[in-house]
Amino acid sequence: MSTFVIIGAGLAGAKAAETLREEGFGGKIVLIGAEGERPYERPPLSKGYLQGATDLEKVYVHESGWYAAHDVDLRLGTTATGIDPRGHLVHLDKGESQPYDKLLIATGATPRPLAVDGGDLEGVHYLRTVADSKALREAFAGGGRVVVVGAGWIGLETAAAARQAGCEVTVVAPGPAPLHRTLGTEVGEIFAAVHRAHGVEFRLGTSVSVLRGRSGVSEVVTTAGEVLPADHVVAGIGATPNVELGRSAGLEVADGIVVDASLRTSDPDIYAAGDVAEADNPLLGRRIRVEHWANALNGGPAAARAMLGQEVVYDRVPYFYTDQFDLGMEFSGDLSGHDKVVFRGDPALKDGAIPGFLVFWVTNDGRVLAGMNVNIWDVTDKIQALVRAGQAGGAVDLGRLADPEIPLSDLLG
Ligand SMILES: Cc1cc2nc3c(=O)[nH]c(=O)nc-3n(C[C@H](O)[C@H](O)[C@H](O)COP(=O)(O)OP(=O)(O)OC[C@H]3O[C@@H](n4cnc5c(N)ncnc54)[C@H](O)[C@@H]3O)c2cc1C
Repeated sequence: MSTFVIIGAGLAGAKAAETLREEGFGGKIVLIGAEGERPYERPPLSKGYLQGATDLEKVYVHESGWYAAHDVDLRLGTTATGIDPRGHLVHLDKGESQPYDKLLIATGATPRPLAVDGGDLEGVHYLRTVADSKALREAFAGGGRVVVVGAGWIGLETAAAARQAGCEVTVVAPGPAPLHRTLGTEVGEIFAAVHRAHGVEFRLGTSVSVLRGRSGVSEVVTTAGEVLPADHVVAGIGATPNVELGRSAGLEVADGIVVDASLRTSDPDIYAAGDVAEADNPLLGRRIRVEHWANALNGGPAAARAMLGQEVVYDRVPYFYTDQFDLGMEFSGDLSGHDKVVFRGDPALKDGAIPGFLVFWVTNDGRVLAGMNVNIWDVTDKIQALVRAGQAGGAVDLGRLADPEIPLSDLLG
């Protein structure tokens, strides 16, 4: 009987285990997770769960009995410390070694630390795990002043949750606008407007030089020299993929563990999926590492099918979503190489509320590389069809793209 081992009991790992059983794999499945919690989804940790609106039970990938019922040997609180590719062994922190026939690495990522003086003071938070979210929820419940460092997804979602809990919130970030590296300045400004309308303050074009405090953090000093009083600091300054196991096993590692379009690493019996994997995406014609929920949700199953010897080409359109105050959005595609942004609908706030609109990142010759729907739903398939066509070289008329009266499905000749 063959043994498939999965390192990392997050969304990618859990969905891979599920797919193996769904596809009829009758061998042994060992799912190894460093955390004490069974696999869960992280998006609610900066939204509903953080705000107290979503129960813990709702964040888990499977019901507690699922693993035993499907004969998945779930080993929680267990860290893989090394891989021996020649011996086909995974070494565990408890001293054992677990043999494998095929191995999936789905170890996710770790928040980047705030490497400034005072970065280790009490009251400085990160957000990755259920425990982190619980601690933040308790911190926000007391009100007070929250300084969020970083204006990416985690920073902005946390800022919204803190504000909704009644805290005074200031976001400090080096870029000219929130999310400017992901969405560009023009679209980032829209997110800033939404946050400002709800009372969030920004200090942009500056970073943190030092955190000060006695028993816990009480002040954030920016590189511009401003001193911001703070009861709590949340660092949302990105995450680093957990590639160490892959690197020490001699696998090819770049920004993440390098895998081909079937999510196979440079070792034919080892695969990688989720945040940790840098995968060849045939749609985009290059390797990308995607730190988003949908990539774990779909990548885990794709890797599982490849482990079973099925033909797999993982070429999904990168997708992510966010919810902040009254703004809900989905983004599809990859905007690198775009020339300009085309709006379909007016993104300006009306009476402080964000309207519904679409925005596309396009080339001058009319190729749609990425698209985003804000407060408009059930259009992702159509947007992704435009992105697929655009990434493959197909062009649309940009005037018609900007016209909300013309159905999206009519744009592709
Ligand atoms: C707070 C938060 C909010 C988010 N919100 C959104 C959102 O709104 N939309 C969106 O698209 N994406 C969102 N994301 C991103 C999304 O959650 C991640 O892309 C997804 O969780 C990645 O899943 P994964 O299985 O690859 O990794 P993870 O979920 O990180 O799971 C990896 C697991 O592996 C374990 N592990 C690591 N090393 C070892 C080892 N050596 N041995 C054993 N176990 C190990 C880790 O402890 C972890 O439990 C959010 C992320 C966070 C943190």
